[in-house]
Amino acid sequence: MNNGYITTIGLEVHAELHTNSKMWCGCKNDPTEKRPNMNICEVCMAHPGTLPVPNKDAIKKVIQVGLAVGADIADFTEFDRKNYFYPDIPKGYQLSQYKLPIVSGGQINGVELTRIHLEEDTAKSSHEGGITLVDYNRAGVPLMELVTEPVIHSAEQAGEFARALQQVLRYVGASEANMDMGQMRIEANISVSKDEKKFGTKVEVKNINSFASVEGAIRYEVARHIDVIEQGGTIVQETRGWDEVKLETFSQRKKENAHDYRYFPDPDLPKLYLTKLFDIEAMRKEIPELAPSRKARLLTQGVKEDMVDIIVTDPSTAIYFDEVTQGKDAAFAVLASNYLIADVFGLLKKENKELVAENFPSTASFVELLTMITAGELSSRGAKDLLPFMITDKNLDVKKTAEEKGMIQKNDPEALKAIVAEVIAENPAQVAAYKSGQESMFMYFVGQCMKKSKGAGNPSLFQELLKSALQ
Ligand SMILES: [Zn+2]
Repeated sequence: MNNGYITTIGLEVHAELHTNSKMWCGCKNDPTEKRPNMNICEVCMAHPGTLPVPNKDAIKKVIQVGLAVGADIADFTEFDRKNYFYPDIPKGYQLSQYKLPIVSGGQINGVELTRIHLEEDTAKSSHEGGITLVDYNRAGVPLMELVTEPVIHSAEQAGEFARALQQVLRYVGASEANMDMGQMRIEANISVSKDEKKFGTKVEVKNINSFASVEGAIRYEVARHIDVIEQGGTIVQETRGWDEVKLETFSQRKKENAHDYRYFPDPDLPKLYLTKLFDIEAMRKEIPELAPSRKARLLTQGVKEDMVDIIVTDPSTAIYFDEVTQGKDAAFAVLASNYLIADVFGLLKKENKELVAENFPSTASFVELLTMITAGELSSRGAKDLLPFMITDKNLDVKKTAEEKGMIQKNDPEALKAIVAEVIAENPAQVAAYKSGQESMFMYFVGQCMKKSKGAGNPSLFQELLKSALQ
């Protein structure tokens, strides 16, 4: 609600699926390939006489996403030709789905979904100095399109939905969904109205490539719509783009120029009976635990919410954290979250390494480290000093290394008592000062004890012993 206006937003999200090969041919599906036109063949370049063969893994991944969001999976599906002429589409039509999408319904974060269908990505055009260059590596890459119902009412809600969708795609393994790599792209249909029973004129903002831009573009459009209406103008139905530098939308295409795509079922592709091709019930059982359920579980373990949010963002991190804390108590889980997010992540960031489980210390060594800290055998300083070795060497014997490097914390009260006695005997003036009320002197004694124990004494034990010795 904004000045009495109700905002209504529907989203269309495209996600490149994580498959080995393209949608209709054996070409590599490699979003990291920088050299243009490396992964192309007669089929994805649409040479005459070639025929498409559907990629079963791509279809499977769309079904998995559908199952993860509680949607209906179609018994029967087909592919349609969406006709338009543009250099980025070699066939002169895009293979997509029109009447019979693979997935219908479902919801994410309480936002109802209309459908999820499968199509092929287009080539990438770049316009430089009056010419257009086309890279066909992306042409024919399996692309999932998800459409929501117009039930989103704010920029924040749209942003949250997009983040939650990204997590679903990653947990299921359907897509890497990196927005900065164009693996997940968002279009928002936005309208405002004072009448809750009637939508305002909608404007479509296309190709939004970051979560911040999703929210920025919607906020900008909502404010623009209200401004135009308040000044007595009318909103024109059109497609707009988002300028990431100026942080504003700009008109791209008015409705009059909208395409008539002349959809019709592709005669080159077979109709697909999904329930015959896949064991949908078995697939339903294999859907992994998703982020919201993991989050609720970790919160009950006492891990702080900001830590939990970071942990569940990446599936590999969430699974790693589960392995580390399996069968352990709440205090251990909290300790594990602190060392993982503050220290391990800190070290990896310094080295510009990705924050994923394969770059973390091995589960066994991380558990060993945390167990030693819990038992008071290792100080937090010692733990911080050990972690870089554990990241470089996955097979590192943590206990042995700590012993060799003299990091094992000494908890033997008799040995520590002797050190305390020595420190007191060697510092009569400081002791006198402390006893006459100079309490700040206490930490000096702790420091001296730590020094004498070469950093291996347990500092809290030293404090206890000093307190009773100085009474
Ligand atoms: Zn190909």
